[in-house]
Amino acid sequence: MAGKTVFVTGGAGYIGSHCCVELLEAGYNVVAVDNFANSVEDDGVATALKRVEKITGKPVTFYKCDLLDRERVMKIFDQHKIDCVIHFAALKAVGESMQLPLQYYKNNLIGTINLLEAMKSTNCFDLVFSSSCCVYGDPEFLPITEEHPTGNVTNVYGRTKYFIEEMLKDLSKSDPKWNIISLRYFNPVGAHPSGLIGEDPTKEVQNVMPFIASVALGKKPHVTIFGNDYNTPDGTGVRDYIHIMDLASGHVAALKKLQTTKDLQYKVRINVPNTIGQLTVFVFQFLLKC
Ligand code: NAD
Repeated sequence: MAGKTVFVTGGAGYIGSHCCVELLEAGYNVVAVDNFANSVEDDGVATALKRVEKITGKPVTFYKCDLLDRERVMKIFDQHKIDCVIHFAALKAVGESMQLPLQYYKNNLIGTINLLEAMKSTNCFDLVFSSSCCVYGDPEFLPITEEHPTGNVTNVYGRTKYFIEEMLKDLSKSDPKWNIISLRYFNPVGAHPSGLIGEDPTKEVQNVMPFIASVALGKKPHVTIFGNDYNTPDGTGVRDYIHIMDLASGHVAALKKLQTTKDLQYKVRINVPNTIGQLTVFVFQFLLKC
């Protein structure tokens, strides 16, 4: 895989920056873009990616670029020989998406279409897409599997992911050259062991782990626990989490799979909930099933 170039959208964000570490350490070159909608900018420079360079001792080629700027995306694809893409860039706040549906549909759907067009025009057909467990909506059975029906989505953000998945399915049927894996994440948490990068959003935090971190940092007064009558040992809610570095290495595994198996067309994988060492299980399943 050494020498292959990966285009990482949303590379300055939480999952994107951790994934860049794993990609560089696996020998890939990284070209990353971000518009800093939810990541820290220092005069056009991505703070998290500077730290990624420090961790790995390797350079990241970075462009401040909005995926809605179709011409600029095309230009970057023309400037580099991109072998494959990991598409993280999206707006992702469930509550906000209900208030600003058009902004979410525009950013997530049009941004993805612009990206896919740039890929197609430069004969790049290998894509790992950041999907979400949101595509399932309220589960019909647990634990959820890849075969669980999707589409019964309860919020706008989740619907953008569902619509993109459907679009990717159609695309892969239209031309067998497309080789796409959608990864439906459940609750990534944690940080790189160096402590140099972590979850550092610029929008108001909503997810439980960054919220707890804000309280620990004295930025918020307290954590409120909602619900006390769930069927759990103490009645409060229980969720499964996946460590960010496991998720990052799962992306590298998915990318390697795309490059060694050219007729995948469209595959979906999840990290299995309610297990320990989830992504290890996930990667194993992934390699077995494909
Ligand atoms: P994040 O907000 O930290 O990272 C996303 C990055 O994309 C941000 O840096 C943002 O500035 C950038 N971005 C957004 N719109 C853009 C655009 N139009 N052009 C260029 N850059 C743009 O979020 P994250 O937690 O790293 O999530 C990454 C992906 O994983 C997202 O697609 C998200 O929907 C998905 N996901 C995240 C979680 C989670 O809990 N973190 C769970 C499931 C799925």
